Amino acid sequence: MAKIILTGDRPTGRLHIGHYVGSLKRRVELQNSGEFDKIYIMIADAQALTDNADNPEKVRQNVIEVALDYMACGIDPAKSTIFIQSQIPELCELTTFYLNLVTVSRLQRNPTVKSEIKMRDFEASIPAGFLTYPVSQAADITAFKATVVPVGEDQMPMIEQTREIVNRFNGIYGETLVEPEILLPDNKACLRLPGTDGKAKMSKSLNNCIYLSDSEEDVRKKIMSMYTDPDHIKVSDPGKVEGNTVFTYLDAFSKPEHFEKYLPDYKDLDELKAHYMRGGLGDVKVKKFLNAVMQEELAPIRERRKQLEQQIPEIYEMLKAGCAEAKAAAAETLKEVKDAMKINYFDDASLIAEQQAKYSEQQ
Ligand code: ATP
Ligand code: MG
Repeated sequence: MAKIILTGDRPTGRLHIGHYVGSLKRRVELQNSGEFDKIYIMIADAQALTDNADNPEKVRQNVIEVALDYMACGIDPAKSTIFIQSQIPELCELTTFYLNLVTVSRLQRNPTVKSEIKMRDFEASIPAGFLTYPVSQAADITAFKATVVPVGEDQMPMIEQTREIVNRFNGIYGETLVEPEILLPDNKACLRLPGTDGKAKMSKSLNNCIYLSDSEEDVRKKIMSMYTDPDHIKVSDPGKVEGNTVFTYLDAFSKPEHFEKYLPDYKDLDELKAHYMRGGLGDVKVKKFLNAVMQEELAPIRERRKQLEQQIPEIYEMLKAGCAEAKAAAAETLKEVKDAMKINYFDDASLIAEQQAKYSEQQ
């Protein structure tokens, strides 16, 4: 079976370091591994509209921002097909059919959707499109016959929902759809990177992000004012590293060679953590180290982005070509789905002949 990746992001803002460690970095590695037959990367504008229906301009403006962030991180359109969800109407058709295979109570149980509903104050009136977006995500994944979906931990319930739909569909209509596997980051800190405010998840909608396109100075300021251990007041106080965002980011980003380069008094992160826990190590020193590590990672991305920002028309052309390619692939799957569901009346000569024969016999 072909090895195919489908993944994507909502164009609700520029991409941040949570996207980077949760999915984007891995995608680039997988892309460059040459192990995959096809890689589809989707800018999920239709999904972004499920909770931004009153702000289409935000979604429209951010499509290019996401594309720029992708390419700045190393997504190469020659190796990966980047496309825009709304331009592939086949995905809506698949969604319609899949909606019949899912119950409302099952959708309401989705823990990620539940917490997003709370976060968006949708409790009193949930847009139906928002409640059902995991079904549309199942359409996205299956349309491209994806075998692997590299995403952050918050996407686990979506992949689970997709697998259920695939099994239900194949059970009723015969083997048609491919069951995808989730690929989570290996590094625990990257599963769900917290925001700079210490909140559970860095998220465009929560205003607690370090963006990949932030200037050097913005990154420094955000790091220096980051949430740490609220009980670590004096340098001499013993500190906690669990739930301390600065250390979580170091878990996600630092490598042994960074210590040699920027903090040679410590061999590795374990030593630094041990010192912090016993007391005598100030937040400022740790934050300065984190800043050096982050700047090293982000500088090349920022530089590449600056160049790409001068090529906007070419990037739109690339997206257009990506949409055409994605549309062709999705149309193929939709045809198979319709055949399996027996909604291919005009392609089925035997159906017409049989029905005619039935009436002819009665004469
Ligand atoms: P929104 O607030 O609009 O939902 P978001 O910041 O949650 O935006 P998405 O576009 O929903 O971003 O997520 C895109 C991808 O990035 C998904 O694979 C998701 O798992 C991953 N991701 C998002 N935030 C994080 C995070 N803080 N840590 C790890 N992965 C993340
Ligand atoms: Mg999200």
